[in-house]
Amino acid sequence: MSEINTSKVSRWDQHGREHVVHVQRTGAHRVMSCDTCGWRKKVQFLPWLKAEEHLAEEHQATVDPKAS
Ligand SMILES: [Zn+2]
Repeated sequence: MSEINTSKVSRWDQHGREHVVHVQRTGAHRVMSCDTCGWRKKVQFLPWLKAEEHLAEEHQATVDPKAS
């Protein structure tokens, strides 16, 4: 089960480094910002999904630390 109200998404890469994307609510939008590379994006829907996509594509970070 994933936490739908979480304000950050963290994933580990294959080297065990943690990458975090924070999700902030600003009115009708959510703004995502990546700690690792400074990437920012504003979306209306499914920010956690977009954050996971970014972590997987840009940082090859796909391991959910909460999944174990
Ligand atoms: Zn990033």
